[in-house]
Amino acid sequence: MKNNRNIAEKFAEGQTVFSVEFFPPKTEEGARQILRTAHKLVELKPDYASITYGAGGSTRERTVEYGEMLMEIFGFEIMAHLACVGHSVPEIDSVLNRFSEAGIRNIMALRGDPPRNVEDFRPAEGGYKHAADLVRHIRERFPDFGIGCAGYPEKHPEAPDFDFDVEMLKRKVDSGADFIVTQLFFDNSHYFKFVDRCRAVGIDKPIVAGLLPALSLKHLMNFKSMCSTDIPEELIGKISEANSDAESAQIGLDWARRQIEELKAAKVPGIHLYILNRADSAIKLSRFIRA
Ligand SMILES: Cc1cc2nc3c(=O)[nH]c(=O)nc-3n(C[C@H](O)[C@H](O)[C@H](O)COP(=O)(O)OP(=O)(O)OC[C@H]3O[C@@H](n4cnc5c(N)ncnc54)[C@H](O)[C@@H]3O)c2cc1C
Repeated sequence: MKNNRNIAEKFAEGQTVFSVEFFPPKTEEGARQILRTAHKLVELKPDYASITYGAGGSTRERTVEYGEMLMEIFGFEIMAHLACVGHSVPEIDSVLNRFSEAGIRNIMALRGDPPRNVEDFRPAEGGYKHAADLVRHIRERFPDFGIGCAGYPEKHPEAPDFDFDVEMLKRKVDSGADFIVTQLFFDNSHYFKFVDRCRAVGIDKPIVAGLLPALSLKHLMNFKSMCSTDIPEELIGKISEANSDAESAQIGLDWARRQIEELKAAKVPGIHLYILNRADSAIKLSRFIRA
C-alpha cells in the first residue's frame, strides 16, 4: 500500500499531526527490531514516519531501502531524511531520484554534522554548505516533494545567538520548506519561546515539536551532550532515584506525557516522537497525542 501524500497537506486538517522517527539499522538484530516495531505501530496509524540519513557510507543506502520497506509493507507515509554532508550536487540529485523512484514524496532537508573530532562543517567539493541550499535545490528540481527542515528551540550549537539562528531558519523556509521539525527538548518553555521568535521574524510554517521519551539517566546524558539539550533538574532528580530500568523508563514516559498534554493545550501543529526504533513509547503516548 502506498499513500504518497505530501505531508504538508496534513497540517491544514487541523488535527495534531503525529509522527515517529526510525533510523536505518546496521545489524541483523537491528533489522529484526525495526520490523517488530513497524509491525506494532501499524495499528496506531501515525500520520507519517521519518527515516534518518546516516553520516556516510552504506547506512545512507539503507535510508531508501528501509523507507521503501516501511511504505510498501506497512503502509506508512514516509519522510526520508537527506543530509548534504559529503555529497556533491550530482550525488544529491541521484539520491533524490532514488527517493522519487521508490515513491517517497517527502524529504527532511538537512546539512548534517562534520565528522567526529572535526570542528567546522566543510561542504564536499561541488556540494552545499547550508541546509537552505538543499531546500532550494529540492524545491527547484523536485517541486512535488514536501520539504521539512530542522529547527532548534535551544539554538543550534554553532550559531552565535538565537536571533542569528532563527534568521537562518527563515532562509530555509523562504527557500521552500513546508514545515519545521524541532530538535528534541525536555522543557516546553524552550519550544514556546522558539515559536514566538520564529513568528516575530515572519516564519509562518507549522513547527512540529520533537520529543524523546527518556529511558534512563545514561540515555538522557547522552542526548544532552549530543544535542546540547537542557535537562530540567526535576527530571534528572526523578530518574536518578529510579530503582530499575522499568521505573526509569516509566519516569521518562510520564515526563513526555506531561509535555504532550501542555503542548496539546497550546494547540501545536504536530508532535514527532524520537522512538529510536522501539515501539513502547509511541504505543503508550499516542492516545495522549490524539486525545
Ligand atoms: C529534526 C532533526 C532531524 C535530523 N536528522 C538528521 C539525519 O537524519 N541525519 C543527519 O546527519 N543529521 C540529522 N540531524 C542533525 C543535523 O544534521 C545537525 O543538527 C546539523 O548540525 C545541522 O543541520 P541543519 O540542517 O539544521 O543545518 P543548517 O540549517 O545549515 O544550520 C547549521 C548551522 O549553520 C548556520 N547557518 C545556516 N545558514 C547559514 C548561512 N547562510 N550563513 C551562516 N550560517 C548559517 C545555522 O545557524 C546553524 O548554526 C537532524 C536534526 C534535527 C533537528
